[in-house]
Amino acid sequence: MPEYTKPLPIPSPETQPFWDACKRHELSLPYCAACDAFFFYPRQFCPTCFSWDIEWRRCSGKGTLYTFAIQYRPQMPGFTPPYVTAIVQLDEGPRLLTNLVGIDPSPETLRCDMPVEVTWEDATDEITLPLFRPAS
Ligand SMILES: [Zn+2]
Repeated sequence: MPEYTKPLPIPSPETQPFWDACKRHELSLPYCAACDAFFFYPRQFCPTCFSWDIEWRRCSGKGTLYTFAIQYRPQMPGFTPPYVTAIVQLDEGPRLLTNLVGIDPSPETLRCDMPVEVTWEDATDEITLPLFRPAS
């Protein structure tokens, strides 16, 4: 595996299940049984009703492009502009900050609400990142 030069997340006890699922190429989010709803980012209790009855459930990996920005200047080492930072509206409800790949990073090709799906970047032996691409 070539050296990965972009910044990497540091899993915490609350986020470790998310990263473990990513390693399996599964998008998994915390779910509150009392609210019958997913939430994100991971916390030990539901941010809506404060219930501690939380479980991890696998999600579809499908959603829509909520908003995006085309980055023309590298903000961190390892990034090759232009690239797209995006917030994806997941079908299950929560929004996820990510990168959009597999599409020309141009104002002519990108549209809010376009359907997208998760794809995986195996960054290191420990970390796999959930990225998104236009839905097939
Ligand atoms: Zn709740």
